[in-house]
Amino acid sequence: MNKHCDLHLHLSGSISKELLIEFAKSDDNKKAIDDIETADVLKMFKIIHDLTNSPERIEASTENVINTSTADYLEIRTTPRYFSSTTPLRHSVGAFVAGLKKHPKKAKGLLSINRYMHDVKSAQKIIEIALEFPDHIVGIDISGINPEGIRILQGDDLKQIVETILNSSLGLAIHIGELNLEKDSIDSTIALNAIDQWLDQNQIDCFGKIRLGHALFLEEDHKRIIRKHRLPIEICPSCHRYLGAWNKSEGHPVQQVYSDKDSPIVIGTDDTLIFSTNFQRELALARKELPYSLENQCNYRFTHNP
Ligand SMILES: [Zn+2]
Repeated sequence: MNKHCDLHLHLSGSISKELLIEFAKSDDNKKAIDDIETADVLKMFKIIHDLTNSPERIEASTENVINTSTADYLEIRTTPRYFSSTTPLRHSVGAFVAGLKKHPKKAKGLLSINRYMHDVKSAQKIIEIALEFPDHIVGIDISGINPEGIRILQGDDLKQIVETILNSSLGLAIHIGELNLEKDSIDSTIALNAIDQWLDQNQIDCFGKIRLGHALFLEEDHKRIIRKHRLPIEICPSCHRYLGAWNKSEGHPVQQVYSDKDSPIVIGTDDTLIFSTNFQRELALARKELPYSLENQCNYRFTHNP
């Protein structure tokens, strides 16, 4: 399969500006309409969160992201949310799935567990809900960055959740080493050790089952485990430039993990609205600046999961 697969993109950061303005107009929210044009990254995430405030808008956003993507196939991730104290979490997932259902060949979904929002119980709940939609939800993403925040999911709880996902029929996409922080490094150690043990015990190929997001700041032990199993890494070029982790004059940090051209590297857009990009642009940047052949990226889709 030589199609273009965007396997790392977040729903909220990838909605088109036109749709956001439409939401703001229908709320008669003039401030949001003005702010959309000038907001910085953090403010933009807040505007998006405030405007995608109903199951109907989640469904419309999902369709919008699929329709506006320049890739042939997408795995879109989103964090399930409550819209009111009386609506169950399943409502927002149902709305997400309703959007995915309209384009079953072009897009599948991942549900995100946020290390700063979800404890082990709510993480388990998200996994349970994901398993209710096997035709459309193909994996779980573990994410969440917050330099000042306190992680809710960490230590043995994080290990348990990683193992639960690995033992399920779902794929595991985990953000690791996104920021240069000690607490993130501790989480990387926990997650990678759990993955290492699981792969050794089960003698399974990790393709179609596990992907690592970003992997920018890693210790030697992390790199050793990644190379041992040839774990696929998702690189989001514009995001990494924005974070300052990939400077123009220097190689990409992932080149310290993988240097050969056939390395298991996947290119993702992360947030097309936030980084004003699209899949073709990210791929062109990656082809120009990275040493990888970037062939067969679609082999890392979770739909390959047995
Ligand atoms: Zn991401």
